[in-house]
Amino acid sequence: MQENIIPHQFNVTQGHRSKLKEHGAFLLWFTGLSGSGKSTIANAVENALHLKGIHTYTLDGDNVRKGLNNNLSFSPEDRTENIRRIAEVSNLMIDAGLVVLAAFVSPYKKDREMVKKTVKDVNFVEIFVDTSVEECERRDVKGLYEKARKGIIKDFTGVSAPYEAPENPDVQIDTTQVSVSEAVEIILEKLNPKLVVN
Ligand code: ADP
Repeated sequence: MQENIIPHQFNVTQGHRSKLKEHGAFLLWFTGLSGSGKSTIANAVENALHLKGIHTYTLDGDNVRKGLNNNLSFSPEDRTENIRRIAEVSNLMIDAGLVVLAAFVSPYKKDREMVKKTVKDVNFVEIFVDTSVEECERRDVKGLYEKARKGIIKDFTGVSAPYEAPENPDVQIDTTQVSVSEAVEIILEKLNPKLVVN
């Protein structure tokens, strides 16, 4: 099916777009359990970047699972397809010159590896929001852990589905030790060199 798809060489490239925007484009991938703090920290980082004049976009469960991926469940196959589509969308957004923030549980190592491969290693910043299941369950922001314990929700990461922790993340944040604003500082520090356009 793909054999007759021959890419057109467009004149305006990613480099041109980054030059116009005056900053680099890459993906910040937040992974961790539900309630670990991914969205909270991603939101605060996006806010800080926006104030610096950086063009950003955040992808999360709400805006992706309700639209593009509304035909996918939480089975292992559908979780993989969910992440594959997010990786491809992120790749297009990087090409468009944006700093993309993606906050997804993404429990499987192989899926995160696929994202890294899709957007290329150099454009991938893995942020492990490392909050224990006990703490996430204590917070139970959306009441999902209670439902999972009762068996109302099946395949719930940390309760009835596995979470494979990153072994070598670019940034690791234990939210029981680090405040949201400290997390933002740590992440921005890591990003500063990547924001520079040559
Ligand atoms: P996720 O996106 O990972 O499911 P959320 O960001 O929706 O998690 O929820 C995390 C909850 O934890 C929020 O209610 C947030 O206020 C709270 N929280 C407490 N301390 C921190 C911290 N240091 N960093 C991030 N979130 C924290």
